[in-house]
Amino acid sequence: MVLHFDVGREKSIKALEEAMVKDQTIFLTTQKEIDIDLPTPEDFYEIGTISKIKQMLKLPGDAIRVLVEGISRGRIGNLTQEEPYFKAEIEEYVFEKEEEDKELEAMMRVVLEAFENYVSISNKISPEVMISVSSIEEPGRLADVTASHMLLKTEQKQEILEAFDPKDRLEVLYKILLKEIEILEVEKEINTKVRGRINRLQKEYYLKEQLKAIKEELGEGGEYDDEIEELYDKVDKAKLPKKVEEKVHKEIDRLSKLSPGSAEGGVIRTYVNWIIDLPWHKKTKDSIDIKKAKDILDEDHYGLKSVKERILEYLAIRKLAKKMKGPIICLVGAPGVGKTSIAKSIARSLNRKFVRMSLGGVRDEAEIRGHRRTYIGAIPGRIISSIKDAGSKNPVFLFDEIDKVSSDFRGDPASALLEVLDPEQNKEFTDHYLEVPFDLSNVMFITTANTLGTIPRALLDRMEVIDVSGYTEEEKTVIAKKYLIPKQIKEHGMEESNLQMSEQTVRDIINYYTRESGVRGLERQIASVCRKAARQIVENDSEIVRVNANNLKKYLGITRFSYEKIRDKHEVGIATGLAWTRVGGDTLSIEVTPMKGTGKLVLTGQLGDVMKESARAGLSYIRSRVEALNIDEEFYKNRDIHIHIPEGAIPKDGPSAGITMATAVISALGGIAVNKEVAMTGEITLRGRVLPVGGIKEKVLAANRAGIKKILLPIQNKKDLTELPDSVKRKLDFVLVEHMDEVLEHALVRGENKDED
Ligand code: ADP
Repeated sequence: MVLHFDVGREKSIKALEEAMVKDQTIFLTTQKEIDIDLPTPEDFYEIGTISKIKQMLKLPGDAIRVLVEGISRGRIGNLTQEEPYFKAEIEEYVFEKEEEDKELEAMMRVVLEAFENYVSISNKISPEVMISVSSIEEPGRLADVTASHMLLKTEQKQEILEAFDPKDRLEVLYKILLKEIEILEVEKEINTKVRGRINRLQKEYYLKEQLKAIKEELGEGGEYDDEIEELYDKVDKAKLPKKVEEKVHKEIDRLSKLSPGSAEGGVIRTYVNWIIDLPWHKKTKDSIDIKKAKDILDEDHYGLKSVKERILEYLAIRKLAKKMKGPIICLVGAPGVGKTSIAKSIARSLNRKFVRMSLGGVRDEAEIRGHRRTYIGAIPGRIISSIKDAGSKNPVFLFDEIDKVSSDFRGDPASALLEVLDPEQNKEFTDHYLEVPFDLSNVMFITTANTLGTIPRALLDRMEVIDVSGYTEEEKTVIAKKYLIPKQIKEHGMEESNLQMSEQTVRDIINYYTRESGVRGLERQIASVCRKAARQIVENDSEIVRVNANNLKKYLGITRFSYEKIRDKHEVGIATGLAWTRVGGDTLSIEVTPMKGTGKLVLTGQLGDVMKESARAGLSYIRSRVEALNIDEEFYKNRDIHIHIPEGAIPKDGPSAGITMATAVISALGGIAVNKEVAMTGEITLRGRVLPVGGIKEKVLAANRAGIKKILLPIQNKKDLTELPDSVKRKLDFVLVEHMDEVLEHALVRGENKDED
């Protein structure tokens, strides 16, 4: 055969080179142990192959690839040289072809047959090999070629090489063939067995999976079964209303038919749990004890006399007429006046749970009524969620900021609210998500609003409005001392003895760090002081922190608000009015300057159309009284009148500045000064009658703060005076007026006072 192999050992290369120089003949033999690097003659098999080198090729590195052709077998005789390469005398063995030998012939056939068998089992040898092998006639050669095609171990090959006699050789080969065939067969058997087992396992697994799926489909799954069972159980225990129970059963039925992991199953499960968790029957027992309710309201709130009375009346009526559904209370007032906190106290005094939902900015009806379940991620609306949170079907439910609901394309939340608040309809309130009605008729609804103006009429009609007006400085001071400071001290982990705050300090906080009718800002500022005080106590290891008017800046920074104080002197053309603003009351200086012109009326500053009307009414009155007022009767022709109302205080009610504007104009036109200690409020008619206005309490308090001594009020506002704290009433002089003439009488400084101007 011709074959090639690579040679790397120096000794072998030397031998090759030497052979190439001579007759290209070389003796090839095998090393017994493959891992010996430098073999000695004992490490070689004695019998090898005498070969002819046909080609030598230098490979990268020092290796050489040789192509050789086997010529005949040979045996190492005398070793003549070991260095630089092995050299030995070789005894060549050549087999002479014998005459016809039947036995040999038979041997050849047997071997061929066995080889054919071997090829068919091993399927690693290509069938063409069989063809070329079977055409060989020489017995020795047949053995050699056949062996070369088989995957044999070195020892086996050597054994064949060493069998010189063709008959022996065939025999050796035959034995090897039989053994190999046997091994191959066993191998094959093992193979099929293993494969069979794996197939069976796979099949079993697959079938089991199918069975599981079928069971689930039939609703017979184990764990899943338990879950469904559990749900039914829970529904049973929840004692749902009949209609609801039917609906839920239907849903669970549907769930049991779905496969456990399905998305729809998740939706149903959530739904059922929502239903189960709602307080369909859970109720707290009402205790309407007016005396107790009064105590609780008093305990939680200072002042608010009329508010408390109204609430107690309301509760009393509820107690008497259990079945009658009274109107819904709507607490109206600026932020921080205690609306939420009153509602909480009502809940406490009735022994009901309390939940609150802010309606500020709610535009989407779905927020109230929920989304339909087809909507991805749908949940019930906030009413149902709140009821669930309350855990009782009769909580006190506070709708905060009902004046802030607005409607747009997403539906009309106001109309949904209407349904909720209507005792006729809310028995069957239907949330889009729940799809079954929930009875809200046991809920006590209370609403709050900052103003009434923006509440939809239909809603307003259902409510009993209770005004929670702002607090006076006096009241705020008490609230701070009795409630806010102790509360904040506690919240900041201090003891009451740790922080000392004088009354004047509290007043300063009220006047210079907040401007509000409620006490929310005040509470925030107090919290700020507490925070810094707590830090001081920890850092300095001190026991007590004293905050007073002098060091207040250290705690709260520079003051944030200032107030107009009364003027130093009586002035012409400036009158002090009183405004009722969002945050309470304020004084309002109205300035008037008449100029040469054509009778135009110019208004600057914070003025709405209402104010303009009011100013015109004042002018009409003045024109009708020019003589008595001692004013040039042509003033409306040759003068422009400029009225300025400074920015800052944005009045809620325009017309109430009417008498103030008229006074300032008359003062300016007549050149008579206005008393600096007088402030006024009231609407004016064309004929000079003074009409009542709102916000008297706040206005009076603002006047008091500014240092005013005398206040002119419309006579019809007399009733409002009873609301004023005595401390304020004592300091001020009130004049109730019916007509502009009276206003002028008190406001203008005639005679010698004019000199002060
Ligand atoms: P609103 O709901 O009107 O905005 P809150 O009820 O939230 O106001 O009141 C703000 C804070 O002021 C609360 O801590 C509340 O306890 C306190 N507060 C308001 N009014 C009083 C009062 N009359 N007496 C005691 N604390 C009050």
